[in-house]
Amino acid sequence: MRELPGAWRRTSAGAGLMAPDGSVRPTIFAEMSALAAETGAINLGQGFSDEDGPDAVLSAARDAISNGVNQYPPGRGIPDLLSAISEHQLRFYGLHLDPARDIVVTAGATEALAAALLALIDGPDDEVVVFEPYYDSYAACVALAGARLVTVALRWPQFQPDLDQLRSAVTDRTRIILVNDPHNPTGAVLSAEVRDEIVRLAEQHDAVIVTDEVYEHLIFDEPHVPLATLPGAWDRTLTISSGGKTFSTTGWKIGWISGPAPLVDAVLAVKQFLTYVNGAPFQPAIATGLRLPDEYFEGIASTLRAKRDLLGEGLREAGFEVSVPRGSYFTVARIPEPDDGGHIDAGEFCRALPARAGVVAIPLTAFVSTAHRGEYADLVRFAACKRVEVLEEAASRLAAMR
Ligand code: PMP
Ligand code: GLN
Repeated sequence: MRELPGAWRRTSAGAGLMAPDGSVRPTIFAEMSALAAETGAINLGQGFSDEDGPDAVLSAARDAISNGVNQYPPGRGIPDLLSAISEHQLRFYGLHLDPARDIVVTAGATEALAAALLALIDGPDDEVVVFEPYYDSYAACVALAGARLVTVALRWPQFQPDLDQLRSAVTDRTRIILVNDPHNPTGAVLSAEVRDEIVRLAEQHDAVIVTDEVYEHLIFDEPHVPLATLPGAWDRTLTISSGGKTFSTTGWKIGWISGPAPLVDAVLAVKQFLTYVNGAPFQPAIATGLRLPDEYFEGIASTLRAKRDLLGEGLREAGFEVSVPRGSYFTVARIPEPDDGGHIDAGEFCRALPARAGVVAIPLTAFVSTAHRGEYADLVRFAACKRVEVLEEAASRLAAMR
């Protein structure tokens, strides 16, 4: 057959997954989780918890299945979940959302991101500004939608953007400023100054802000500030979150997108032809989760903070420099320079790490565009969302490698 045409090509290329022979590589998460399974190494790569979430949430899903919640839910989501999301935004952030108009439930944050980008981008001259490194699906979906990706660098060790660089990246061609806060893969939390500037630039250039806040409850030093709460932001901001991280249910794929009704309607117009709907019995279960008392949410943040500290300590003892994350599942570490001063390649390092140390991690180069890989070639992401004994064992294996 002749070369297969189609958008798959630019999508894969956008994600940096097109091999020189024209085949498509799996995502870095799939590759590294498979490597962990194959070698029996400890998986500090793909971000998922190795423990179940709260019993109340799990049993609500079992009850829903037993009680016949097994057919297509309504297109925007089950009303009880829409109400629970609205209550959650009011309880934590003082935002008033109309459950019937301002929210759509999606197949994870991933579908919300894809639908928002496909809905709001309209042609090859449109630009999407993202902070780099970025979550892998951003570049893939911007490429799928046929727009141009404009990156603003986050640099070791603080991973805050330079404001002048941000200002020159956002122009009248910018349709979307795509933000992720707390940030995967760096664990950075945007400073108030950066948040204000994002909103100011979006207003100045009439851009939409799409903000991915899936780690909203995994923040260690301060309360999370959604961009949508800033003065002037609400009317042009779509906020995305998900139950996956907050309730340790990444396999359920219940996410949501919220914002002013006209923007949400535009996203729904696309979303209804991607999955239509998903996860009927998991929707009431996530509603139960969102209504858990404050102590639950404080508990997951403080538990993960302690794990972050444990992982950071282990990495330092193993000879890495560590950027202390202020949120998210992740810690970025810098590979120690080899004694012979030889070059470091995070991808090679991570592919060899299971055999050398019995640990899997993710190279930061997987989160940056090809042209910028060199600038991140000594940085590796480790996930802290694992049991304490697993983190301790990983730390001692890494130290033994030294
Ligand atoms: N955005 C970010 C920043 C993430 O880290 C993840 C997943 N870990 C997602 C989106 C996808 O979330 P979901 O599993 O709900 O699709
Ligand atoms: N978000 C998870 C991570 O960053 C992985 C999700 C996925 O495998 N697509 O590790």
